[in-house]
Amino acid sequence: MSISTLKVTESRANLLDESNIQFGKLYSDHMLIADYEDGEWKAPQILPYGDITMSPSTTFIHYGQAIFEGIKAYKTESGEVKIFRPHDNWKRFNISAERMAMPEIPEEIFIQGLKELIELDKNWVPNSYGCSLYIRPFMFATDEFIGVKPAEKFRFMIITSPAGAYYSKPTRIYLQKEYIRAFPGGIGFTKAAGNYGAAMLPSKKIKEMGYDQILWVDGVEHKYVQEIGTMNVFFVIGNTVITPDLTAGTILAGVTRASIIQLLKEKGIAVEERPLSIDEILEASKKGTLKEAFGAGTAAVIAPICELNYEGEIVHLPEESTWEISAMIKKELADIRHGHIPDTHNWMFTVC
Ligand SMILES: *Cc1c(COP(=O)(O)O)cnc(C)c1O
Repeated sequence: MSISTLKVTESRANLLDESNIQFGKLYSDHMLIADYEDGEWKAPQILPYGDITMSPSTTFIHYGQAIFEGIKAYKTESGEVKIFRPHDNWKRFNISAERMAMPEIPEEIFIQGLKELIELDKNWVPNSYGCSLYIRPFMFATDEFIGVKPAEKFRFMIITSPAGAYYSKPTRIYLQKEYIRAFPGGIGFTKAAGNYGAAMLPSKKIKEMGYDQILWVDGVEHKYVQEIGTMNVFFVIGNTVITPDLTAGTILAGVTRASIIQLLKEKGIAVEERPLSIDEILEASKKGTLKEAFGAGTAAVIAPICELNYEGEIVHLPEESTWEISAMIKKELADIRHGHIPDTHNWMFTVC
């Protein structure tokens, strides 16, 4: 499928100040658009980044048929631009699409589109270690119709934005039972827009209480850990790394999560994917076997947790300087991404 390209007359890449990247403030010169109509994808276009117009009756604004992805491109020391595991995001995008009754996006639009868009905007990929170009593919229903029914027209787009080295100060986590993120049969396993809309009020409330992220628990027994905020979650208890399993369909299958599990297994570190209850975490903390806890996702990569508040019962994690497993994984992932160590898993997809 050929992608037509209309280039900007003058690049804005000079606006990028690598020493002071404010995430999401600046978007690269170009964006990709592909429309789905009459049962098929039309040829994608790369255009200068800019506003899009739409009818007020556009269906996704009302009924939320909208999904997205988050991916990062990195520059290696030799100046090559590479994307971390984009095929996994493409597959997950199609899983989200299926659940939301949206059309599958073919590899030649998603992956080839990424490649051409990022090659064109390669000057927007920061050079510094830990910095990256954040890539946001998304799709939304574009029927001009306010009746409730699955749409027939859709738009797929990709925009990109430079991201700085993400220093995550140790996160304070609040466990609340009042709000539930996901339940079996729902859409917890998708990156559907509505999941994030529904999380805004609970996260606003815990921020007002001085906490950074919510620890989501299951909606039936209110005791099994799911995720923190918009990240997967890992606990190191004794010498074992534990993360909730994906079988209930209530947890987003993170690419970072899968990469961490694989790296740990290769190093012979015990990893368990299984239900993990709050009681088990509290008990480990009391016994002194709770060693590390962290969130994992594309944005922060690894976000260490320093405190957990469970209905007033406060668990403090050990001093982060004593953590070995998360520090090692964080460094290894960054080294693979910037080409400091060989990419033995073929995780890096070369753009140019
Ligand atoms: C995107 C996301 C993650 C992390 O997935 P990655 O592929 O590692 O970025 C975890 N949980 C939720 C709810 C997410 O939206």
